[in-house]
Amino acid sequence: MGHAGAFSFYANKIITTGEGGMITTNDAGLAALVRNLRDHAFSSERHFWHKFMGFNYRMTNLQAAVGLAQTEQLAGFVENRRRNAALYTELLKDMPGIVTPPETENVKNVFWMYSILVEDEFGMTRDQLRAFLAQRGIETRTFFIPMHLQPIYYQTFKGQRYPVAEMLCERGFYLPSASSLTESQIRYIAGIMQQAYQQATGQ
Ligand SMILES: *Cc1c(COP(=O)(O)O)cnc(C)c1O
Repeated sequence: MGHAGAFSFYANKIITTGEGGMITTNDAGLAALVRNLRDHAFSSERHFWHKFMGFNYRMTNLQAAVGLAQTEQLAGFVENRRRNAALYTELLKDMPGIVTPPETENVKNVFWMYSILVEDEFGMTRDQLRAFLAQRGIETRTFFIPMHLQPIYYQTFKGQRYPVAEMLCERGFYLPSASSLTESQIRYIAGIMQQAYQQATGQ
């Protein structure tokens, strides 16, 4: 897709090399350029000669070996995540004020993160629910913060509003999503969510 694709193999991704990533492209010139850029931009015609600025972004052989072994397991990891997501959705779909992630017909979600929205009907805000879960040993993460609200882009997007992104940022969070999550752990998490709802609404 496009001129190039960028992939992250950071530690929390479905397959990981600890840090690092890869670029895919069908453009041989671009491939040569990015290979050179990651390797200090050493010039081919003269040793230790730099015509432009490069980086030390090489992946080590050890990391690559981990990545290859991970890639062999990718289908299984995705299968686990899809199974875990289906169980989460089964347990949470009738909970008032909790919106579970939709999957449209022509798309296969790999559930890198299992994401939910907390609406007013739940009786607790997203942050109150996260605190309730944290007190019971369940770590969660909020959705990412939109570009236009990031300090570094504040001037660029000044005065612009993106209400859907802002709503998602305020109401969304990720439940534990590791491929290795067990059925009983997911049932425990859903049970604590149920307790939170009962405590918040008295139902
Ligand atoms: C993975 C990820 C990153 C980190 O990517 P790297 O290329 O490994 O630095 C940053 N932001 C989001 C939203 C990500 O999912």
